[in-house]
Amino acid sequence: MEEPLGILIDFTECIGCGECVKACRQENHLTGTPNDRDLSAANYTVVLKHDEMYYRKMCMHCLEPTCVSVCPVAALTKSPDGPVLYDADKCMGCRYCMMACPFGVPRYHWNSPVPVIEKCIFCHSRVESGGETACAWVCPMGATRMGRRSHLLEIARARIALRPERYVNYIYGEHDAGGTSVLMLSSVPFERLGFPMKLGDEPLPTLTWAVLSRIPGIVVTGGVLLGGISWIINRRIQLEKTGGEDLPDGTEPRSRKGGGQ
Ligand code: SF4
Ligand code: SF4
Ligand code: SF4
Repeated sequence: MEEPLGILIDFTECIGCGECVKACRQENHLTGTPNDRDLSAANYTVVLKHDEMYYRKMCMHCLEPTCVSVCPVAALTKSPDGPVLYDADKCMGCRYCMMACPFGVPRYHWNSPVPVIEKCIFCHSRVESGGETACAWVCPMGATRMGRRSHLLEIARARIALRPERYVNYIYGEHDAGGTSVLMLSSVPFERLGFPMKLGDEPLPTLTWAVLSRIPGIVVTGGVLLGGISWIINRRIQLEKTGGEDLPDGTEPRSRKGGGQ
């Protein structure tokens, strides 16, 4: 079998043009706006600035993804070729994946009548038909490039060796959380850019929930977690009854068959 695919983002090459963000929105029919600064259901990737350097955030497509391991209905799956795929038709909106992801990637689609999450799926249909991800294809600087992960790692190591004054000596994603399909190079330490640095080298799904508490935001009581899941499921049932409309408290939903006005 061929080596899995990956993406290398070299922040030092990025000019902050935002073409990758625009291409991603177009490819995925997302409604993000130019001022958006965070991942959301409307943005699968963002370009941010730190001092004079631009950097990107997107799904890291972990080699052994925690989101996949916690999804109770296999709506998230890891493709042998690299991407972490997502099937909205299977998703029941429980948000386990949001709590489990060490990079805070899956985002809840609050405005959707059917409660599901949203995330980058590595432009799966483009890649499956032999193309590149939209963000890699459009990048005018080659700052985002796609390829076999092992080859991208070789490139990253060579760049650091060739110009040690330009890069921090760290390839983000090489080992973090057990390794990710998205790799990053930077001239600014990754912790200063808000990337989690204490995830360890072991794949998180192999660890216990106690160790998973290293992930910010995952320490929740069972009651809060179950309460959230129950709320989501009840909301889904209500919205299915009302055909996606929010009704005032105490209002009975119309029958979908009879339309009872
Ligand atoms: S929100 Fe959807 S994708 Fe995430 S864990 Fe729950 S069912 Fe799986
Ligand atoms: S791989 Fe595709 S979906 Fe993911 S950030 Fe790039 S353009 Fe967006
Ligand atoms: S398209 Fe390339 S150069 Fe432009 S913001 Fe995205 S990564 Fe940076």
